[in-house]
Amino acid sequence: MNNDVFRVKFWGTRGSIPVSGSEFQRYGGNTSCIEVRCGEHRLIFDAGSGLRQAGDALSAEGITDFDVIFTHSHYDHIIGLPYFAPIYNPTMNVRLWSGHLAGIMTTREIVKQFMRPPWFPVEPDICKACLGFRDFTSGDVLSPREGITIRTDSLNHPGGCIGYRIEWAGKVLALIYDTEHEAGILDPAVLGLIEGADLVVYDCTYTEDEMPRRFGYGHSTWQHGVKLAAAGKIGQLALFHHAPSRTDDEIDHFEKLAKKRFAGTFAARDGQIIDL
Ligand SMILES: [Zn+2]
Ligand SMILES: [Zn+2]
Repeated sequence: MNNDVFRVKFWGTRGSIPVSGSEFQRYGGNTSCIEVRCGEHRLIFDAGSGLRQAGDALSAEGITDFDVIFTHSHYDHIIGLPYFAPIYNPTMNVRLWSGHLAGIMTTREIVKQFMRPPWFPVEPDICKACLGFRDFTSGDVLSPREGITIRTDSLNHPGGCIGYRIEWAGKVLALIYDTEHEAGILDPAVLGLIEGADLVVYDCTYTEDEMPRRFGYGHSTWQHGVKLAAAGKIGQLALFHHAPSRTDDEIDHFEKLAKKRFAGTFAARDGQIIDL
C-alpha cells in the first residue's frame, strides 16, 4: 500500500434514518459514516448506522487504532456507536472527538448520556477498549496523527455541527454536512473549508423546490452544492446525506442534473471508495 494513500470509503450516505427496500439498493440505506485512510492511519467521521460494518471490516483487517470524529450528535450520526465492535475489544484503542457542544457538554458526557439505560441495555463502562475522549472548539486545528491536519469551523445546523477540512500528503478532503444555506449566499465558513479541495462531501438532503417547506431543518441542496463547488474551485463534489425517502432513481436523476452544472459531481453510495 502506497504510504501516501488518501482514500475515502463511504460506509453510510443516507441522512436522518437508515432505510431498506428494493428502491434503495444501489445507493444504500446506512446513515453517515465515512472512513478516511491517510497512509497507515484510519479516521472515521461520524458513527451513523454504517459504522457497524466499518468496524467489522476494519477489525478483520487487523486495525487496532481508530479515531472516530463526530460532526455532531444527532441520532443519524451516532446510532452506530453501540454496535461498533472494536469498543468492546480490549486490544483496541479508540479515540472519540467532538467540538459542536464545546463548553456545553464533553465528548465523554455525550457518549455516556446516549449509551445507557433506558435507551441502551448497558453503560459505556462495559466497553473494554482503551477509550479516549477528545474535546475541541470550532476553529481549532486538529492533528490527530502525524502529518494529518484537520481544520474545523461551524456549520449552520440546529444544535451546532462541525465542518472539516482534512489535509494529508498535499491533498484535501472537506466534509460539509449537516448544514443549511441561505438563498443566494455562499457561507464564508464553508468556502474557507472547501477552497481548492480535491473532494467535497456536501449535504444534499433537499432540492431547492423543497427548501421553502424545510427552513430551519439544517440541510442544503445539490443546487447550492454545485454553486459552492464552482466558487471553491474544487475537484469533485459528492452529493451526500440523501433524504430517507429518496429512491435510487431520484438520486440518479439529481446526479445527472448536477453533473451538467458541475462536471465533477457524483452521488455518493454506500460502499463506494474514492482515492484522492
Ligand atoms: Zn444528519
Ligand atoms: Zn443533524
